[in-house]
Amino acid sequence: MRIALLTRNPNLYSHQRLMEAARERGHEIDPIDTMKVYINIASHRPEMRYKGDILSGYDAVIPRIGASVTFFGTAVLRQFEMAGVYPLNESVAITRSRDKLRSFQLLSRRGVGLPVTAFANGTSEADDLIDMVGGTPVVIKLLEGTQGVGVVLADTRDAARSMIQAFGKLKAHILVQEYIKEAGASDIRCLVIDGKVVASMMRKGAEGEFRSNLHRGGSSGTVKITPEERSTAVRAAKIMGLNVAGVDMLRSNHGPVIMEVNSSPGLEGIEKATGIDVAGKIIQCIEKNARPHRTKTKGK
Ligand code: ADP
Ligand code: GLU
Repeated sequence: MRIALLTRNPNLYSHQRLMEAARERGHEIDPIDTMKVYINIASHRPEMRYKGDILSGYDAVIPRIGASVTFFGTAVLRQFEMAGVYPLNESVAITRSRDKLRSFQLLSRRGVGLPVTAFANGTSEADDLIDMVGGTPVVIKLLEGTQGVGVVLADTRDAARSMIQAFGKLKAHILVQEYIKEAGASDIRCLVIDGKVVASMMRKGAEGEFRSNLHRGGSSGTVKITPEERSTAVRAAKIMGLNVAGVDMLRSNHGPVIMEVNSSPGLEGIEKATGIDVAGKIIQCIEKNARPHRTKTKGK
């Protein structure tokens, strides 16, 4: 097969591994800088171009679209879909997963475990927001945050109230969430591919840090997940419509609760922690689902 790898940086571990795994399995794979693709949508036969050449003849596309380029990146991906190229994750599913509030709304409607979460636009009702999630301590999150930046823990009502007001002043959208203390500054990342958890790891926050993100100095190790955690991860990926997803959850007193569902999960942490060839499994998923020259994607 001919596979396009949409990425801004082909040198990252995840992208190197995906290219290696595809080539090992006999496929051709080209890294394409997402932001350098340009599209002619004025005619009946839209054309995608890259460095002066027409982009065509691909059987599958692996989107690795960073959060900061979601808008343009998903437009490029959609164009591949309209040309009938099999997308590892669909553009709509990526857009959906990038919006934390939308994701929570969809997951809660289907009864997936979530931390008690409140969302509001105004800040005049700060006290009520805090009460709604069961009082302090609470976690306050910027809706647009990634890698743990914009996630704060407020121990007291005074602190929570001033943070909510401060974010309000900046016109930032926030979520107020119950603090899952019993998770012990650890979370679980499950890598779901094609409806199965293929690898999981536990991440633990650095000393004195409640956030377990590796970007925030956390460390990772293997973990044996429970059947409930496994089914929660699989359901979350399915509800979001993602064939490949990094599902983050916390172990709470009321069962596993979802933190986030990532549509471009990093491979380095999980492959190194578990020794599992996740990149190979991603390529196998494409082999199983793509129909070279016959994929009927809608591009919607
Ligand atoms: P980001 O998308 O920026 O990574 P998350 O919502 O995943 O933000 O939060 C980052 C980390 O902070 C989580 O991995 C978890 O360790 C910790 N955390 C987030 N929300 C809570 C919460 N409600 N209770 C306890 N810990 C939390
Ligand atoms: N690569 C990041 C992760 O796996 C997040 C990617 C995304 O924003 O979907 O944690």
